[in-house]
Amino acid sequence: MAAVLSRDELENMAGTLHELLESLHEELTDELNEIEHVRHLLKRQVPGQSGKQTALEVARRLNLEHMRHHLDAIAGCNRALERINRGRFGRCSHCGEAIELNRLRADPLVETCLICQG
Ligand SMILES: [Zn+2]
Repeated sequence: MAAVLSRDELENMAGTLHELLESLHEELTDELNEIEHVRHLLKRQVPGQSGKQTALEVARRLNLEHMRHHLDAIAGCNRALERINRGRFGRCSHCGEAIELNRLRADPLVETCLICQG
């Protein structure tokens, strides 16, 4: 089965994935720092201060959905790099057909072709 992408394109893709991993790592680190802030915020809460105000501030700072999204993206990057190593990158994980190149270039993390994605 021929590779979908040329060696150069695969190397570019791997570079892109490594950069993406690095920035995701930074974002998660920022988000963990936010959690530290929130812990201080909760410890510091002065008597009489509106608990609702604090709760809102905590909710604003603790964007757990973002963290989940970033963790998922990191897992996706690692799977994509593994597919590159195995020579499976660019093949649909369901049907094995080549994934549309434009689709791959727009999002190197896609794992299925348009048909299988449904
Ligand atoms: Zn497919």
